[in-house]
Amino acid sequence: MQKRDVIIIGAGAAGLMCAISAGSRGKSVTVLDHANKVGKKILMSGGGRCNFTNYYTEPTNFLSENEHFCKSALSRYTQWDFISLVEKHEIPYHEKKLGQLFCDNKAKDIVNMLLDECSDVGADVRTHCSIDKVEKTDKGFLLTSSQGKWQCQSLVIATGALSIPTMGATGFGYDIARQFGLKVLPTRAGLVPFTLTPKLLEDFEGLSGTSADALVSCNGVSFRENILFTHRGLSGPSILQISSYWEPGDAVEINLFPDIDLYQTLKSVQQERPKTHINTVLAETLTKKLADRLTELWFSSYKEKPLAELSNEALQTIATQCQAWQLKPTGTEGYRTAEVTLGGVDTDEVSSKTFEAKKAPGLHFIGEVLDVTGHLGGFNFQWAWASGHACGQEL
Ligand SMILES: Cc1cc2nc3c(=O)[nH]c(=O)nc-3n(C[C@H](O)[C@H](O)[C@H](O)COP(=O)(O)OP(=O)(O)OC[C@H]3O[C@@H](n4cnc5c(N)ncnc54)[C@H](O)[C@@H]3O)c2cc1C
Repeated sequence: MQKRDVIIIGAGAAGLMCAISAGSRGKSVTVLDHANKVGKKILMSGGGRCNFTNYYTEPTNFLSENEHFCKSALSRYTQWDFISLVEKHEIPYHEKKLGQLFCDNKAKDIVNMLLDECSDVGADVRTHCSIDKVEKTDKGFLLTSSQGKWQCQSLVIATGALSIPTMGATGFGYDIARQFGLKVLPTRAGLVPFTLTPKLLEDFEGLSGTSADALVSCNGVSFRENILFTHRGLSGPSILQISSYWEPGDAVEINLFPDIDLYQTLKSVQQERPKTHINTVLAETLTKKLADRLTELWFSSYKEKPLAELSNEALQTIATQCQAWQLKPTGTEGYRTAEVTLGGVDTDEVSSKTFEAKKAPGLHFIGEVLDVTGHLGGFNFQWAWASGHACGQEL
């Protein structure tokens, strides 16, 4: 039987940060992970460069049934705290866009930094360790694992969520929550591409790889960034962002000309260059390939005519279609490619200060296993760092 003050299950972003935080306060800490290496999602994140935080992190960048839950931890360990840690380790980084910070070199720099910090505070990190059983005892918790039995006073569940099962994602955290009588809110894939009907896929065939700057809206929320046509459907940052707000059956509205009033623009062009055709005007903003395809699909009855021959009503129809395009996805690509999982352990069950389960003293939940999900752009890691740090300070 091996005894520790703290055992953390899951050596991902939140678990490693929690180990550093608790270890720095003199606690004996072991982190157990079933995978063959630690921080696999960190390694694959941000195209291998890890978008580790965002300059503009605010509570409004997170989705949760309880929008207030994330505030306390985010204010106690901010993006500036994590940036200081990165700078202490002399890891070169840069802002790519919109406050998103990436490593200049590779995501492994972040994993190495976390492991170095764990080692400095004496936290022991083990891989290849699967947990068979978790039991409550009068001394804390008893774990039965592939590396023997462990006893601890505090147990932290940092096993993440369901996205990318091939990377070791499991529903383990939800099972433990249910074992201890905690409510788990329904989960679904977030930050995930949309799939389309066979008809739409056929319509957009050949556009794979084409992108457009667009304002995408659904359920009262909008994001302005690129959309990307793929051979499976629609992706790109603004689609990934809106997917977290999309429910099956919803249509998303796409404005392909977010900077202008397209009707007024068409009217001006009609005056100034009356012989111009509609695809030419669209191609002044969109790529020629996209402009030609959309003209073919949506405006075939107008495509042979110069603008001079189009009525105001026709111009209005064109503008509305391009600026309020209603698209109904058939679904999403699901957990296979989703960056995050929405839903999870109900935050009402957990203290926002200590991350301890109210019904199970000594048991804590941090990171993505909780019902807190960030927007795209480094916010999910900031949540993992902040919740891990806050919990570690209270163990
Ligand atoms: C492709 C991709 C790219 C991403 N890019 C970014 C990005 O650039 N910026 C950003 O902010 N966020 C990004 N994310 C989201 C981010 O990776 C997660 O939100 C974050 O890793 C969650 O941290 P966590 O510690 O809660 O969980 P994880 O990092 O997933 O860690 C959970 C750990 O628990 C272990 N585990 C799971 N089940 C068990 C079990 N039964 N027994 C033992 N161990 C277990 C896993 O092996 C894993 O090591 C990305 C996600 C994906 C999938």
